[in-house]
Amino acid sequence: MRRCSKSNFSNYEIYIAHRDNQIVRKLAGLLRPNVPKLAPCLLTYHSPMKTFHNTAHHMHAGKQEMFRGKLVDCHEVPDRLEYVLAELKRRKMGNILAPADDLPLQAALEAVHTREYLEFLATAWEDWVQLDPTNAQRDALPSVWPLAQAHAFRLDAPPLNFAARLGQYAFDSGTPLTAGSWQAARQGAACALAAVHAVLAGERAAFALTRPPGHHAGPAYMGGYCFINNAAVAAQALRDVGKKRVAILDIDYHHGNGTQTCFYERADIFTLSIHGDPRTEYPFFLGHADERGAGAGAGFNLNIPLPRGTGFEQWFAALQQAIAQVRQFQAEALVVPLGVDTFEGDPISGFKLRSADYLSIGQALRELALPTVLTFEGGYAVGEVGVNVANVLEGFEA
Ligand SMILES: [Zn+2]
Repeated sequence: MRRCSKSNFSNYEIYIAHRDNQIVRKLAGLLRPNVPKLAPCLLTYHSPMKTFHNTAHHMHAGKQEMFRGKLVDCHEVPDRLEYVLAELKRRKMGNILAPADDLPLQAALEAVHTREYLEFLATAWEDWVQLDPTNAQRDALPSVWPLAQAHAFRLDAPPLNFAARLGQYAFDSGTPLTAGSWQAARQGAACALAAVHAVLAGERAAFALTRPPGHHAGPAYMGGYCFINNAAVAAQALRDVGKKRVAILDIDYHHGNGTQTCFYERADIFTLSIHGDPRTEYPFFLGHADERGAGAGAGFNLNIPLPRGTGFEQWFAALQQAIAQVRQFQAEALVVPLGVDTFEGDPISGFKLRSADYLSIGQALRELALPTVLTFEGGYAVGEVGVNVANVLEGFEA
């Protein structure tokens, strides 16, 4: 919300507001001829939410993923993003932009991920093809892992063979690494960073519309279709510019395991996640309610696992619980890993949210009244993913 001047009235909806800027009446431009007569302190304009769109996302297009013993077509496909983009354009929502190319991206990446992991990603495709030239026809998927059990495998003597190195950095075989994965993931992080800069410049909220998603990626690992943790990059960047306490409220169907790991011992970034119970739902090995943080971060991680089949009423109660915790934490900024695979029609998930519910989610997030960065995560019912994401944004802006 900013003061308006005569010159930009035509571009924005016009509001009449109280002196404290609380909006009481929305007139959507109808008062334009009368604007000069109104006292400046009563006027604000509301610009559409900025959406930073990853123009390189299509460079990451996996062919197949391993699912329960067979290779199946990828669920995480470029159309997911295109449907969101088309719906935002159809509703004339948002100000759709590409991130600036002069952002301090490398520093932001290294603030979350290890340099070794980033170097691994940067050369992974080249190394995969070097292993066997015919690999150029296939996505890279790991097939061997150093299982973490006492005296079982050494993690301090990394192998040189790329097939083994891939297993060292990936926790599943459902995340195909392709020729363009690094470029797409890197540009996605730039979108998250651009969204941070937008809220720092005064925007109430900004959306990083990007894929591959990010919330399963940890400091030095990929998995769950994720390579770079865009939400973590955004949260850390908000800290680095002076926001003292940042909350990450993950509303994807799946536990944000990578984000939790990144900040598990931190008291300045509170990670919260509402998700399918890991006893039955991916990523299985993290996301239980008793994971509350460790060391200085004890008490600053909150998991709310819910059973498969959960409907909106119960889910929304969990959201209210999480929002209350964010308030209590006195967060100065909010990051929302926005997955819409909580939708009842999602092919790989198990909650029962309906399209209209996403409007209520956006409204509830708005009520926190925090500078907010949203990052696009899961959502695989391709036809509806655009509607559901746009509903969250529309609810937020209502
Ligand atoms: Zn998900």
